[in-house]
Amino acid sequence: MTEPTVGAVVHYLTYRDPCRAAIVTSVTRSQPYDLEPEPTTVTLTVLHPGGMSFAAGVRQQDGPDCVDLWHWPSRCRDVTT
Ligand SMILES: [Zn+2]
Repeated sequence: MTEPTVGAVVHYLTYRDPCRAAIVTSVTRSQPYDLEPEPTTVTLTVLHPGGMSFAAGVRQQDGPDCVDLWHWPSRCRDVTT
């Protein structure tokens, strides 16, 4: 699985909206000394047709859940076409 990097464009998912384009502004990964490694999370600047919002501590979508998660745009194309 490709790890996100700062500046990557991903899709952010919420209850109300379809996927929104979002830019990764920071990436938090587990540290080597973590006893229980946490999943990688990102901070996003989310682009809406009428403005922007921000989301922190966002985890990657890896199942059917689709709220406050992100995924790569290629996954969206796979599901909706
Ligand atoms: Zn999507």
